[in-house]
Amino acid sequence: MAKSSDGQIRLKPGAWSQALAPAGVGDRLHGFAAEIFPICRSITGPGVRETLNHVERVIALQRTEVPTGAKVLDWTVPKEWTIRDAWIKNAAGERAVDFRKHSLHVLNYSIPVRARIPLEELKKHIFTLPDQPDLIPYRTSYYQERWGFCMTHNALEALPEGEYEVCVDADLAPGSLTYAEHVHVGDSEDEVLLQAHICHPSLANDNCSGIAVLAHLAAAMQGLRTRYTYRFLFAPGTIGAITWLAQNRNTASRIKHGLVMSCVGDAGGPTYKRTWRGDAPIDRAMAHVLKHSAATANVIDFFPYGYDERQYNSPGFRLDVGLFQRSQFATFPEYHTSADNLSFIVPDHLEASLRMAAQAIEVLECDARYASTAPEGEPQLGRRGLYSAIGGDKDGYAKNMAMLWVMNMADGRHSLLDIAERAKLPFATVAGMAEALKESGLLVPA
Ligand code: ZN
Repeated sequence: MAKSSDGQIRLKPGAWSQALAPAGVGDRLHGFAAEIFPICRSITGPGVRETLNHVERVIALQRTEVPTGAKVLDWTVPKEWTIRDAWIKNAAGERAVDFRKHSLHVLNYSIPVRARIPLEELKKHIFTLPDQPDLIPYRTSYYQERWGFCMTHNALEALPEGEYEVCVDADLAPGSLTYAEHVHVGDSEDEVLLQAHICHPSLANDNCSGIAVLAHLAAAMQGLRTRYTYRFLFAPGTIGAITWLAQNRNTASRIKHGLVMSCVGDAGGPTYKRTWRGDAPIDRAMAHVLKHSAATANVIDFFPYGYDERQYNSPGFRLDVGLFQRSQFATFPEYHTSADNLSFIVPDHLEASLRMAAQAIEVLECDARYASTAPEGEPQLGRRGLYSAIGGDKDGYAKNMAMLWVMNMADGRHSLLDIAERAKLPFATVAGMAEALKESGLLVPA
């Protein structure tokens, strides 16, 4: 470890994963997700700000409020939604549907309503999942003004005929859209963008998990000296990313690599969706890390549907931002339902996701090209104490192979990631060994 003048530590290759994703951090990640889970978020409004208050207890944030009506790329910042309460009362005056019990019960972005209507009329405003009759669906109506409720199909079926009193106590009025950033300044102005969406209400995997992982990654990075500048962006999906891009064109031009993180706490995947370009450094880094992390890893090509990678990869920006998830969105039955709850996300999976992101960051930070100072024939490694240095090490075989591969490919043209790929060894093993070879004088930067 080398300490810079401002006290930040420059980690050696092999040390990043433990520093950014320490063993046991999964419980903290889950605890944080549980804190923000009950909040009713939307694309604008107090739920977003309250969520950011929680993030701010973990890391410093710079918030931006963009007023309703502002033109952002081809879009307009919408009205601000404030929800206080919502319910359907039966003839006895009891709450048959109660927003206070679950934030999914109100159609997200619902306009206010107060009425007394018969069941047949009420049904036109109710969303259920007949195929999953025990679950409440998550539904939104951002761009069409309407009111509504979501409930389990079983509960709907059980409603007797008659009159019901409905209330959505909400405002949909001029206000602002909120996003927040945390910037970790590195040696270079070139940036890595890491983004989570903050617009979903009580859904744990999608995306309390992403907010938790990103906030704690930023916190762990604070004491480290990095090559890149890291921008952690917490913004509502689609309109938030569009608003950020509209307002930060200069910053956007400095983004060299990026990841959108969502659904990173369940047992599926891991899944990585490539950038539009498909062969960007982040694509190679993530594919490598996933392959060495799980036999079930799934690396898929870009397509123009999903999360905010769509905005960053649009033709006017073409930023190399991929999407990192466990299960791919919309492929698991819990997706956008009340089953995406706190028991659907697991500390171990949250921790593994953070670790994979940390390992990808290690690749971005530590990848380099070297040239051998003894390229003719094999250098005599035993004479330099390089074999004995790792005697008895349980990873000894992999380290020996890494050493041989590095010396074989240190021709100044191949990077450490090239070598790790060819050797089928984890990047950290190869990069850690290159460090030892450099110290012994056998490698010089190319
Ligand atoms: Zn979603």
